[in-house]
Amino acid sequence: MPDVTAQSAPALAGARHLHSGKVRDLYELTEGPHAGRLLMVASDRISIFDFILDTTIPDKGELLTRMSLWWFDQLSDLVPNHVVSTDVPDEVRGRAVVCERLEMYPVECVARGYLTGSGLLDYRATASSGHRVCGISLPAGLEDGSRLPEPIFTPAPKAELGEHDENVSYEAVVATVGAERAAELHDLTLEVYRRAEGIARERGIILADTKLEFGARADGTTVLADEVLTPDSSRFWPADEWEPGRAQPSYDKQIVRNWALSRASGWDRSSGEPPPPLPAEVVELTRARYLEAYELLTGLTF
Ligand code: ATP
Ligand code: MG
Repeated sequence: MPDVTAQSAPALAGARHLHSGKVRDLYELTEGPHAGRLLMVASDRISIFDFILDTTIPDKGELLTRMSLWWFDQLSDLVPNHVVSTDVPDEVRGRAVVCERLEMYPVECVARGYLTGSGLLDYRATASSGHRVCGISLPAGLEDGSRLPEPIFTPAPKAELGEHDENVSYEAVVATVGAERAAELHDLTLEVYRRAEGIARERGIILADTKLEFGARADGTTVLADEVLTPDSSRFWPADEWEPGRAQPSYDKQIVRNWALSRASGWDRSSGEPPPPLPAEVVELTRARYLEAYELLTGLTF
């Protein structure tokens, strides 16, 4: 895996750095009771349009880690998860999780209950051949933000850092992991989505879509891994503002994206340059948005 952000991953005693994504740093623990396990650390980094920004969002790593742990608990009767412990080194306390090391399936398992983003693009591009997303036929007349007749599984091969995930057919997943695994991933992804969508809905939040990653234990058991149901992996929309036919307000980095694209930022997206540092008020509004999502969903106070 390419490792463009290794320089920003802190050295941790008793851990060996393995990989850094846009937002998270992955280590292998080399000492202590969990030696051999993985340590997944969520930083306060934020990325938009595939650029990692120079500005960080205070508490984002901890908020997303807590949210993910809360969701793993809500789902634990549906599927085992990779969480081993939250007893982690002091430098990363609150925003790191010790996990089982799994053989990851090279598939991003996406469930969509609403049409937007790349699903909407595919839907529009296939208008002449029956409105298909990942080979699944959808009714005509849907708009940005429309609720789908039922949730759909829209997998994407796991892309290398910097590459874009591309929706593929179910058959492509079968070709990658075999028919039995593909069916299992399909069913688990939709079960998790349905459970989470129901919980979010009770709290006034629409879970429009979500991306899950699964891996296998040495004995072949499929386990839910990575982070789950955070604003970095999912689209959460305030239910009372939902209005198909336009982009929906969301509990994520929308504030940052809007600012970067506004004239105030002075940024030209087509320049290939990263966006400039975020003004303090954009940082504070974004932090408040993540905090609001966490507290609304979990009912807990940060
Ligand atoms: P991006 O920033 O685009 O997400 P990335 O996926 O390479 O890039 P991260 O998501 O930060 O970066 O990296 C986490 C990596 O760890 C992913 O490759 C993910 O598939 C992998 N992973 C998650 N859970 C486990 C696990 N339990 N065992 C092994 N690998 C895991
Ligand atoms: Mg990732």
